[in-house]
Amino acid sequence: KLVSREFKNEDTVIDIGGVLVGGSSLVVMAGPCAVESREQLLVSAQIVKEAGAQFLRGGAYKPRTSPYSFQGLEEKGLEMLAEARTLTGLKIVTEVVDIQSVPVVSAYADVLQIGARNMQNFQLLKAVGKSGMPVLLKRGMAATINEWLHAAEYIMNEGNYNVMFCERGIRTFEDYTRNTLDLSAVAAIKNLSHLPVIVDPSHGTGLWKLVRPMARAAVASGADGLMIEVHPNPAEALSDGNQSLTPENFRALMGEVSAIATVM
Ligand code: PEP
Ligand code: MN
Repeated sequence: KLVSREFKNEDTVIDIGGVLVGGSSLVVMAGPCAVESREQLLVSAQIVKEAGAQFLRGGAYKPRTSPYSFQGLEEKGLEMLAEARTLTGLKIVTEVVDIQSVPVVSAYADVLQIGARNMQNFQLLKAVGKSGMPVLLKRGMAATINEWLHAAEYIMNEGNYNVMFCERGIRTFEDYTRNTLDLSAVAAIKNLSHLPVIVDPSHGTGLWKLVRPMARAAVASGADGLMIEVHPNPAEALSDGNQSLTPENFRALMGEVSAIATVM
């Protein structure tokens, strides 16, 4: 299989407009859960840029549990993300939720995120594969490692080898945390595949207090990068405020993980 170390033993390094993902460097993708307004996004971008992140995250199309929850600003949100890129130089990672919006999201973003809920949407996987865009493939909340590897294979089978895995927690009997962050999956994927692995301790725990410790552990477990939700004012966030870091906590996280990355 294309995803496997048998096919290719050397670690894949993906060049995203000059930012390298995989290999020896650690990358950080950070920003709000959702793009809420131009002001909120540009302030967030400035915070994550100054703290040293390489990528700005933020959803313009949000896959929400309830249809009555904020669904995202759609193309207006994508325009704000592109403006933030122009102002800061940060690369943009944002979710694409369906086949129809692959072209519009590709026009604004640097990386297409496939959300946990779409990990086995095979037609969408083929479409992002055909787009040729770098893809961040989140683990489905009930997906085994084997199913996750096969989802990446769908993308690679279209000729697109620029795939990053993202561990974001799985559903278990434990309900104190939103999900159970499976760091053993990081080591497993690094053994089985040459592709980079990113860890998202924000969705992985659902609790901002656990994000910094789990980010440190993720780097120690061999992750190639982190995805972290940061909000200028988490209490006012339209989604995932409980797991979003304040600017101050995010800066602290960046200091801690870069210290660990140097000894790895
Ligand atoms: C997100 O990154 O905001 C998101 C919706 O993540 P997931 O698909 O992992 O739940
Ligand atoms: Mn979120």
